[in-house]
Amino acid sequence: MELNMNPEHIVQFGENKYSYVIERTQRKSVGVIVEPDGTIIVRVPPDMDEKTIIEIVNKKRKWIAEKIKANEKVKPPIPKVQEPVSGEKLRFKNALYRLQVHKSDEKHTLLVRVCRSLHVYVNNQLDNEVKASEIKNVIIEWYKDKALQFLSARVERYSRYLRKEPKGLKIREIKLRWGSCTPDGKLLFNWRIIMAPISAIDYVVIHELCHLEEPDHSASFWNAVESLQPTFRKWKEWLHVNGRQLDLRW
Ligand SMILES: [Zn+2]
Repeated sequence: MELNMNPEHIVQFGENKYSYVIERTQRKSVGVIVEPDGTIIVRVPPDMDEKTIIEIVNKKRKWIAEKIKANEKVKPPIPKVQEPVSGEKLRFKNALYRLQVHKSDEKHTLLVRVCRSLHVYVNNQLDNEVKASEIKNVIIEWYKDKALQFLSARVERYSRYLRKEPKGLKIREIKLRWGSCTPDGKLLFNWRIIMAPISAIDYVVIHELCHLEEPDHSASFWNAVESLQPTFRKWKEWLHVNGRQLDLRW
């Protein structure tokens, strides 16, 4: 990893700068995906070097800019109150996953993810209220587990640039905030942040990591945040506007 490079990957077209996230997967070619919220994901073969990736993304910059412009015209739908029944949509890294509830004879409730579906197997003999809370709990546990995996990887990535590592990382049930940094250098994150776009998650990660050095929101704190994520204002604003939607609605 080249540490002198900007940690946030950015492609520029005209005046506009767009950040993107590289995902290494078992594939042979490069695929660029523009999500409806403007998140740009670049899927690449596991061993492709960053320079090649940056060149390929640069060649696609016009296409990316056009795609984002087209997406901006479509407003996201207002979420309605959900129930833990088949067909409900659940947000994960801002993508929508479909809930499928299945009847089971097993005592324990089980969740299996297949592509963008979450299959929950719940004991058929339980009464409806218990069933609903079993489904909810297994989904929250899944979110917490995924949040721990993903945030650990992002913390590791950005702490390499900061040259400062937290003393620990925990996923918690926190209301009203996305994360915090304890005085002894541990990071706590609200599991709900895993519902947000990846760049918004990165903003929360970077924000808390920068508190390891600067406990207050001073000018030098925000400079540090900006040096790791030049587009952070957009994601800070995104969370401000959309943050309340990042929750289960039942
Ligand atoms: Zn803060």
